[in-house]
Amino acid sequence: MEIYADIIVDITHEKLDRPFQYRIPEALSEEVTVGCQVIVPFGAANKIISGYCIGISCETDFDPAKIKDIVSVKEGSTTMESREILLADFIKRRYGVTMIQALKTVLLVKHTVKAIVKKSICRGKPLKELQSYYDTIKEKGNQRAKARLLEALLDREEIPLEEVNHKLEIGAGTIKLLEESGYIALKTENQYRDPVHMEHIQQEGFALSAEQQHIVDVIIGALDDCGKYYIHGITGSGKTAVYIELIEEILKRGRQAIVLIPEISLTYQTLKRFYARFGSKVSVMNSTLSAGEKYDQMQRAMNGDIQVIIGPRSALFTPFPNLGLVIIDEEHEPSYKSEQSPKYHAREVAEEVARLSGASLVFGSATPSMEAYQQVKQGRFQLFKLEKRLTGGALPRVEIVDLREELRNGNRSIFSLSLQQKMAERLQRREQFMLFLNRRGYSGFISCRSCGHVMRCPHCDVSLSEHRDGRLHCHYCGYSAPGVKLCPECGSKYILGFKVGTQQIEEKLKELFPEIRVLRMDADTTKTKASYEQILSAFAGGQADVLLGTQMIVKGHDFPGVTLVGVLAADMSLAFGDYRSGERTFQLLTQAAGRAGRGKLPGEVVIQTYQPEHYSVQFAAAQDFEGFYEQEMAYRELMQYPPAGHMMAIQIFGEKEARVKALAEDFGDYLKVLTKNKPIQVLGPTVAAIAKIKDIYRYVIYVKAAKTETLLLLKNALDERKITMHSGQEIVQYDFDPVNTF
Ligand code: ADP
Ligand code: ZN
Ligand code: ZN
Repeated sequence: MEIYADIIVDITHEKLDRPFQYRIPEALSEEVTVGCQVIVPFGAANKIISGYCIGISCETDFDPAKIKDIVSVKEGSTTMESREILLADFIKRRYGVTMIQALKTVLLVKHTVKAIVKKSICRGKPLKELQSYYDTIKEKGNQRAKARLLEALLDREEIPLEEVNHKLEIGAGTIKLLEESGYIALKTENQYRDPVHMEHIQQEGFALSAEQQHIVDVIIGALDDCGKYYIHGITGSGKTAVYIELIEEILKRGRQAIVLIPEISLTYQTLKRFYARFGSKVSVMNSTLSAGEKYDQMQRAMNGDIQVIIGPRSALFTPFPNLGLVIIDEEHEPSYKSEQSPKYHAREVAEEVARLSGASLVFGSATPSMEAYQQVKQGRFQLFKLEKRLTGGALPRVEIVDLREELRNGNRSIFSLSLQQKMAERLQRREQFMLFLNRRGYSGFISCRSCGHVMRCPHCDVSLSEHRDGRLHCHYCGYSAPGVKLCPECGSKYILGFKVGTQQIEEKLKELFPEIRVLRMDADTTKTKASYEQILSAFAGGQADVLLGTQMIVKGHDFPGVTLVGVLAADMSLAFGDYRSGERTFQLLTQAAGRAGRGKLPGEVVIQTYQPEHYSVQFAAAQDFEGFYEQEMAYRELMQYPPAGHMMAIQIFGEKEARVKALAEDFGDYLKVLTKNKPIQVLGPTVAAIAKIKDIYRYVIYVKAAKTETLLLLKNALDERKITMHSGQEIVQYDFDPVNTF
């Protein structure tokens, strides 16, 4: 009987995005399994390429005589489980990528990496016999090396070969002789690379609160239902303590857990707490690991050596045999969306991972994403709330300062009078404070300092950005308008771009308070990973009065000495020019506010803004997430932005601007034909928010529709069109429900 394998070949091309059947020759019948990597001849010229086996069957619809044979199993390649193939299939369908791209995403390591071998010498005979042999040699006195080794082995059962060679200074000859006579034995063991280097850490010694215990009881009580849960709780409300307890229970049942955290820089802190409880059962998975470390973590996960993995997005693909729980902490963070193709969202992939493994899913955050909270509202996730801060410290008092008012009173400084006064008080009382400029990458919005008016796109209701040509542009639809000299709302001439950086603020601070000790944290001062930690620990150690920085400073750090947080311009993120700016502002302000008053002293927060009436500002100041959600959802519904509707960004880039533009325009025209008289909106094409990176020109088209399926069909039509009509080097990528601005 002939046996055939379905092979996905390692060529990324839409035309070849399907399995090809090959015969498994008799000689390879044992070796070729589902999930293995193989070598096959391909095309008319029988070019030798590699591929992945995703299925095996006894039937074929082709002429058996024409089916080619698999050449071999790829040497030194890793194999994936059927579950990973199903996961790849999900990624392919959900994000419109080819199967080969999806398979490569899911398989953490493509090649085996040689194990580190640990050699040691151990006793070859019972202790008594060694003792008498040693006594005989010692008496003779002429075999000193032998005697040294035997003596050492009388004390210890096993000694690393390194030590025998270098410390005891015993050569290979002596070892060989002793081995032949059977008194010693050489032992070799494969040793896993372990990226976790931790000292023993004291466990936290508290019992869970009734609220925390309730969450654990509900989730563990319903493990068989593979439930989905959301823990909504402010920072410090005890979410991590709940995760740890849940994992403890999962491990007791012989299952494993994946914990996603948003950024590599947060790994160490999180790891420390998990390590205190689970010791060497915990490991990490992230892009800073070497291939060998990654490979070994995969092996350790598969063979039960580790049971908990912590890491960003890609940790989701850890091949645990009996996964019981997936946790996503700080679920709202944009870094959970991949910026490379496939542009998958860890939240969605985690749902699929949990479904395929029969695992439970837990999300946690103080500021849920609109997507996740919509699922809570729809009853697809069970909601738990943790409302108290466990480390003491009441919620801070929040003051919103109207910067328009300041201007009217003649204060043109970056600091409002109220903030100036509060900073002076802190300096006098020797308390620390933080200043936060929520500036998020590129932004070129124009706003009125007198009335707060922001220039927005009449079609997309997002703010316009000033380009180098002086005109105002919309990132979504390409609408453009001439630059303005006078505010269309109030006629003021103070309508301009917002160009202030952390460095300038540092200078202004020093003008105001010559003695002040400032630590600045932004992209410039944190080029290395160490500098990030250094700044934080210097501030924690009281080496500065103020920590001044971008959104980096609001992430998960506890500074009990901080009693004041100033948000310098809430408007910077409000006017970012994408549909998520309201959501992001709410998150940033809520988190920034959460930084104040973490210790015994009460905290205060000052939010400076030209739009004090904006609901993101108002609800953040009131720490009212539900209120914010309702209003933001109304905006998304009205404009059909995700998650109310769905959106596809077609991102086109290439070296020749004219060609990129021509392709974008052709796609745009074609889309308009395809979607005529349908409830589908095509925006653009237009130059991307970042028009050029490293000499690569970028264009974008947005399409909005009620269903993702509709968008995927359009994507397929564009793929077809690209194959038949366009031969160039331009690259097209698709981003569904974009999170990151292109
Ligand atoms: P979150 O993950 O929500 O920020 P954590 O779990 O980190 O909250 O808890 C915040 C702080 O409170 C930590 O220092 C933790 O050790 C402590 N903590 C958590 N649960 C309890 C509890 N039940 N009793 C006392 N302290 C607790
Ligand atoms: Zn105005
Ligand atoms: Zn627009």
